[in-house]
Amino acid sequence: MKYLCAHRWAFNLWGGALEQREDVLQPATGHEVTVRVTHCGMCHSDVHILAGGFDMGGGKLSSFERAGVKLPVTMGHEIVGEVVEIGPDVTDVALGAQVVVYPWLGCGECAVCKTGDEHLCVKAARNLGIQLPGGYADTVRVPHSRYLVPIGTLEPARAATFACAGITALGAIRKVPTTTAEDWVAVIGCGGVGMTGVALLSATSKAKIVAIDPDAAKREAALANGATLAFDPGMADAFKTINKACGGNIAAAIDFVGSEKSSSLAVSLVRRTGHVVIVGLFGGEFKMPLPMFALKSITITGSYVGGLNDLRELVALAQRETLPSIPLDIRQLNTVNQALDDLTHGRVVGRVVLQP
Ligand SMILES: [Zn+2]
Ligand SMILES: [Zn+2]
Repeated sequence: MKYLCAHRWAFNLWGGALEQREDVLQPATGHEVTVRVTHCGMCHSDVHILAGGFDMGGGKLSSFERAGVKLPVTMGHEIVGEVVEIGPDVTDVALGAQVVVYPWLGCGECAVCKTGDEHLCVKAARNLGIQLPGGYADTVRVPHSRYLVPIGTLEPARAATFACAGITALGAIRKVPTTTAEDWVAVIGCGGVGMTGVALLSATSKAKIVAIDPDAAKREAALANGATLAFDPGMADAFKTINKACGGNIAAAIDFVGSEKSSSLAVSLVRRTGHVVIVGLFGGEFKMPLPMFALKSITITGSYVGGLNDLRELVALAQRETLPSIPLDIRQLNTVNQALDDLTHGRVVGRVVLQP
């Protein structure tokens, strides 16, 4: 019997450095599949996972530990690779297939999972890169072959970013109601996910896009990816200036940051009947004067990653038409700690993709 090994970059202490370890994998059983990782995108969520929780506002932190996540943790949930082993019951994927892995696994049995929305499972999440070992490794074990989507002719590094940045952006822009060419959509935060949002919006919607980010390089990249205007939210009179430039006609604002400042900017920017979609997980508390709900008749909605069908749809969409591309920053997996540090301190434009 030949055993496969996974060389993983894992942390064994919340907030600690990632260290390489070697784990022997038992042979794949049932519907399990083993994937040799060729590319793994780095998500801003990884900064929060490593820190051990999200800032819930008012000095409170969520805790992955209290939620039952066990150390060591191997992060990485934007995985592309080659199928190198299949369990005896796998019939829908062959050895050698190049696939992107859907990482947001639920229990598979609760009412929500049964609708296909495993990412919103009400019971026990089993996400790759959090509860289950993820793609900061040369090898990943996937519990079921249905989570694999063949990438066809897509560039693998780009396809990797679809598993989180892509479907998160797709899920968020889907929550924006139909827009006309007169409308504006504000995209707040142009990191990897926000930039993908700009790119997908410009490919699928008639509305003009105003990109909002403090980083000049990100604003420039947003303009190159389809935004009509771009602004620094830190400038004097930011709200007035942006609102005036868009003719007071911002139909929707997507907050890819999710901070107290970004969410309040989103709420103030949208016109009456506007929609605010909160996606980012920066943290803090949402505050808004209650009368504004009625007076502005706005809709505020949250959006969390996306479903397996969203991933299939995004892969198909990218094969049908050329989507504007976000900048990729390809690095070696053994520089993962430096990459996480750069991401933590805002020194990354677009998406870091690691290669073992
Ligand atoms: Zn992510
Ligand atoms: Zn479930």
